[in-house]
Amino acid sequence: MALLTCPTCSRTFDAAQSAALPFCCDRCRLVDLHRWLSEQHTLPLACEDPPDDSPD
Ligand SMILES: [Zn+2]
Repeated sequence: MALLTCPTCSRTFDAAQSAALPFCCDRCRLVDLHRWLSEQHTLPLACEDPPDDSPD
């Protein structure tokens, strides 16, 4: 029996009892996935110049 600590809820669980490793359950896996996706989504866009349409 191998004990792991869930990265999402920090709970210790038996690795043999989880189908969503390295998380303790599927719900924690989804929570982590959503967190990761939202972090990607909020990254500032680089190399994007502001529109410059000032009239001459
Ligand atoms: Zn968990």
